[in-house]
Amino acid sequence: MTEHSGLRLIPLKCKKCGYLLNADTRDVVYYCGNCDSGFELINEKDEIVPVNIDFAIPNKNMDTEKIYLPFWVFDADIKINSRDAAGSITGFIMNIFGKEDKHGGKFYVPAFETSLENIRKLGLEFTKSQPEFNMIKKGKLNGCSCSSKDAEKIADFIFLSIEAGKSDMLKNITYSLGLSSPKVIAVPFYKLSGSGMIDGIIGISI
Ligand SMILES: [Zn+2]
Repeated sequence: MTEHSGLRLIPLKCKKCGYLLNADTRDVVYYCGNCDSGFELINEKDEIVPVNIDFAIPNKNMDTEKIYLPFWVFDADIKINSRDAAGSITGFIMNIFGKEDKHGGKFYVPAFETSLENIRKLGLEFTKSQPEFNMIKKGKLNGCSCSSKDAEKIADFIFLSIEAGKSDMLKNITYSLGLSSPKVIAVPFYKLSGSGMIDGIIGISI
């Protein structure tokens, strides 16, 4: 085993059944293919803690290769304390969870490596559409390199991109997203010809 300075290697074994967890060096979330348990690596503590991981059954089936890509999903309860904008006054909370003035819903944050634009687009479209899907436990989870703490920061970025995209000129905002109960949902994506992919739930191509 190679020694890296400042990096402690911890054995990646399922805490529940002892099965060796299959993971990439950059992964921070692991799925046990033996007993279907999920774990997140908490780096500050060098510790793995249980996290719920489910695999979504696609709504659309395609004849190409399917891979599962991870999203963090939070329960959100958004509070906007103040919002200064020039121009027309639009609603404080509009179109975040697909319906006007709805404060609570599921907030989606892509947790795999992709461009910032894809993260914004997928986070926005999944959060807006509040998709309902059936879940299974079996599957292979690819590349969850984003921790739940990082996902909270990315949720801010997605939320602010929604706010800044409204027709009034946003100057200042104070808010809290009230994120809680993080869990991982693995979303099926189909490979398109070339390097693109399309998700099998709402059909966003990246
Ligand atoms: Zn296990």
